[in-house]
Amino acid sequence: MNFEGLDYLAIRRLIFQRKASCRQLTNHYLSQIDAAKKFNAFISVLKKYALTSAELLDQRLQKSDAGPLAGLVIAVKDNINFRDSLSTCGSKILANYVSPYNATVIEKLLNADAIVIGKTNMDEFGMGSSGENSFFGPVKNPLDPNRAAGGSSAGSAVAVAASLSTAALGSDTGGSIRQPAAFCGVVGLKPTYGRVSRFGLVAFASSLEEIGPITKSVADAAAILEVIAGHDTKDATSARQPVKNYSDIIRARSRKIRIGLPREYFVAEVTPEIKTAILEVVKKLEQQGAEVEWISLPHTEFAIAAYYIIAAAEASSNLARYDGVRYGFRSDGSQDIEQMYLNSRSDGFGEEVKRRILLGTFVLSSGYYENYYRRAQKVRHLIHLDFKAAFQQCDCLIAPTVPTTAFFLGEKIRDPLQMYLSDVFTVPANLAGIPAMSVPCGTDSNGLPIGLQIMADHFNEETLLQTGNAVESIVKQCKLH
Ligand code: GLN
Repeated sequence: MNFEGLDYLAIRRLIFQRKASCRQLTNHYLSQIDAAKKFNAFISVLKKYALTSAELLDQRLQKSDAGPLAGLVIAVKDNINFRDSLSTCGSKILANYVSPYNATVIEKLLNADAIVIGKTNMDEFGMGSSGENSFFGPVKNPLDPNRAAGGSSAGSAVAVAASLSTAALGSDTGGSIRQPAAFCGVVGLKPTYGRVSRFGLVAFASSLEEIGPITKSVADAAAILEVIAGHDTKDATSARQPVKNYSDIIRARSRKIRIGLPREYFVAEVTPEIKTAILEVVKKLEQQGAEVEWISLPHTEFAIAAYYIIAAAEASSNLARYDGVRYGFRSDGSQDIEQMYLNSRSDGFGEEVKRRILLGTFVLSSGYYENYYRRAQKVRHLIHLDFKAAFQQCDCLIAPTVPTTAFFLGEKIRDPLQMYLSDVFTVPANLAGIPAMSVPCGTDSNGLPIGLQIMADHFNEETLLQTGNAVESIVKQCKLH
């Protein structure tokens, strides 16, 4: 059986028609993972666990007793806790940390009969845009191994792009699902803040991040979102919002949609090929009946600065818990406890994480708080208001996900500012808490994938997925893909 290139819905059909078994499928991915070691997508592969789960599920499928995600073999970013397995967050400080519990998203996936195949490589604690900031080595882009896969959910995007799993989970604090999805040519969805429980997600910047799916198709993203979304008493920030049946919604004919094109996202820094590819798809949407208008999100240029202050501030507080005592790595040979804290943190954290902790501590310190942290929060509010005004005029916004296609490994790693600028179009959605998705939109002249980003108002994943579905059909029809 050849599963190559199939999305979950196609695989599910094969499984339910008994043309393939979950065991065959899992074995297929395990051998793919073996053959694709050079991409460094996985930190741990749960071979025995995945095969046992597949066999048990095959028995239940015989009795037609299987959950809504049967036949989904999923890779999980290594900052999402999965009981009795490593959750390293790509860091030396957690290199030996075995989680004693499951994240809520994992519980939900397992209850729906998904099979977890492994934990994926990532920028340390989610800090990075290239997949190079991992203690376990850089992740490589399967379309060109000299290029970055994006970050921080690098391994998850690679797992899906190289067909090492049916789909993956990532987390997105400032673009970490959408940016690697764009670089690797797959779909990446960041739900509304509070839509999916963060219980069991190792915290980086708690007010910005969300867990979401990385998939081969928009329909797959819908199928996973409807299972993992919903209120959770274990996460005080999770919303009491009804979860719709997104799979049905995207199958229904979409109503006439009003699309906004934010001027500030089509600026000179965006490569002409990306602009052209996106505007071509928008033109087709217009021909199919969408209303299109240019709008303005005037505070966009301040988003990166605000994000890197707020995210660093929250990180400096969240990462204080790694003290060499409670979790993971402890440096040997210290004279006293102060020295032990210092040595464990100095040896255990990588360069980028230390930079963020220093920056975050600085912007929160007395005398600087007003000038930096508070001001960044004000900018955050203005960005939120920009979006609210835009969604008075239109149902969703379409823009590039990233200003460029995948850059070379090593190209930006010594220049943090350049690296941060890769997130210029993804961080606004996190600052505002709105849902956003990257959908493949053809390739550039180097054959590298282009990502088209769709953003919608809070809890309007429905419009996001419907529009994404329409974009996907256009891209397929026009062979832009
Ligand atoms: N690249 C951004 C950062 O380094 C976003 C990371 C993320 O979304 N986790 O902070």
